[in-house]
Amino acid sequence: MRKPKIVILGAGYGGLLTTVRLQKLIGVNEADIVLVNKNDYHYETTWLHEASAGTLHHDKVRYDISAVIDRSKVNFIQDTVVEINKDEKKVILEKGEVEYDYLVIALGGEPETFGIKGLKEFAFGITNVNSSRQLREHIEYQFATYNMEEVKDDNRLSIVVGGAGFTGIEFLGELTNRIPELCHEYDVDQNKVKITCVEAAPTVLPGFDPELVNYAVSQLERKGVEFLIGTAIKEATSEGILVAKGDQEPWEIKAGTVVWAAGVRGNAIIEKSGFEAMRGRVKVQPDLRIPGFDDVFVIGDSSLIINEEINRPYPPTAQIAMQQGEVVARNIASLIRNKQQLETFKFDNKGTVCSLGEDDAIGVVFGKKITGSKAAFMKKVVDNRALYMIGGASLVLKKGKLNMF
Ligand code: FAD
Repeated sequence: MRKPKIVILGAGYGGLLTTVRLQKLIGVNEADIVLVNKNDYHYETTWLHEASAGTLHHDKVRYDISAVIDRSKVNFIQDTVVEINKDEKKVILEKGEVEYDYLVIALGGEPETFGIKGLKEFAFGITNVNSSRQLREHIEYQFATYNMEEVKDDNRLSIVVGGAGFTGIEFLGELTNRIPELCHEYDVDQNKVKITCVEAAPTVLPGFDPELVNYAVSQLERKGVEFLIGTAIKEATSEGILVAKGDQEPWEIKAGTVVWAAGVRGNAIIEKSGFEAMRGRVKVQPDLRIPGFDDVFVIGDSSLIINEEINRPYPPTAQIAMQQGEVVARNIASLIRNKQQLETFKFDNKGTVCSLGEDDAIGVVFGKKITGSKAAFMKKVVDNRALYMIGGASLVLKKGKLNMF
C-alpha cells in the first residue's frame, strides 16, 4: 500500500516543531515526512533584534536543521517554495516540485508596509539572518564613515525606528546598549547620535500593561530614545522619513538609518496560491485546517485565530506557532491512522516578556508583572525553552543563553 506523504513548508518555530514531533509520533512504515526550507539552518526569529543591533553574532541565532531532524525519517529539501497547486496537491519549488497528501504551511510572515511610499526601498527590516546582518553592517558603516568625511554629516548617526511594538522596542533595547560600544570603537561623540522611535498608535506596546509600558518608555528614554507617539510615517526617502501627526503638515526627520518594525502580514505564497486570507493570513478552523481543504494546515504567522475574549486576532508569536505545531503533529498522526476526530487548538498563554536589552525587560508571566533583571532572566528562560522543545538539552547546551545571572 502506498504510504501517505506529509509535506511541511518552513523550518521556523511552527514547522520545525511539527517535524520533530511527527518524527517521534509516526513510524517509517506509516508515512513519508518531507520538510522544505529555504536555508539548511533554522534561525531564532525572536533573537533577530540582537543580531540586528550587533549585540549577538548572527551565527548564534541559527543552527543546522540536520542537528534536530532524524534523517532516517525526514527527507529534508533545501529549496524555496514558489507556489502551492492545491488542485493537483503539489508544491512548486524553485528547483522542482513535491506532491503531498497532507500539507503544513508554516512559512512565517512578512513585513507589512501598509503601502507607505519608499519603505521597501529605503528602510531596513528585522526579518531573517540576512536582513539582520545587513542592518548591523549598515549601522557600523555609518559610524565608520562619520569620521572619514571632511564635512561631518550628523544625520549619518541618526537612526529612526518605525514601530513601537514588540520588535521595535526589543531592537531599541539592544541598540541603546550597543551605541556606547560603537561610539567607543569608532571614536564618535555619543551626543551626536540620535535615536527616534515613531509610532502611529496612541501608545507604545499596544495591548501591554500600562505600568510596564511606562517602565519601558522611561528606561529607553533614559538611554537616549526620543518617542514620537501618535505620529505616522508618511514616506521613506534616501534622506530619512516624512512624518505627520493627525492633519498636521508632514515634516522631515533626516536619518542615515531607517528601520521598519511595525507590522506583520502572512507569507505572500498564501495569496499567490489562491487561499482566502486577511492580510496574507488564513483564518483557520479550530483543528488548524483551511476551511474547505481537509488536507492543508496553516500554522504560525500565516495563520489567523480569533481571541474570543476580545474578538480580535491573537498577535502572531513564536509561542502560538509552537503550540500549533504540537497540535498539528497530533492531528496528522490521527488522520493517517484514519481517526477523523481531530484535536481543537486552544492557545494557552504562558505570558509575554519583552526585552529592553540583555540586562532589562518587562513581562507578565503566569499573571504576575515583572521588570528589570528578574524579567531579563525570564526572557532567557523563554529563549532556552524554545530550543529545548525542538532540540532537547543538547541544543540548549550548544546554542542556549546560559549566562543567566
Ligand atoms: P518563522 O519562525 O519565521 O519561520 C518561517 C520559516 O519559513 C523560516 O525558516 C523561513 O526561512 C522559511 N521560509 C519562508 N519563506 C519560504 C519560502 N518561500 N520557501 C522556503 N522556506 C521559506 N514571538 C514570541 O512569542 N515571543 C517573542 O519574544 C518574540 N520576539 C520577537 C522579536 C523579533 C525581533 C521578531 C522579528 C519577532 C518576535 N516574535 C516573538 C514573533 C515570532 O518570531 C514569530 O511569530 C515566529 O517566528 C513565527 O513562527 P513561524 O513558524 O510562523 O515562522
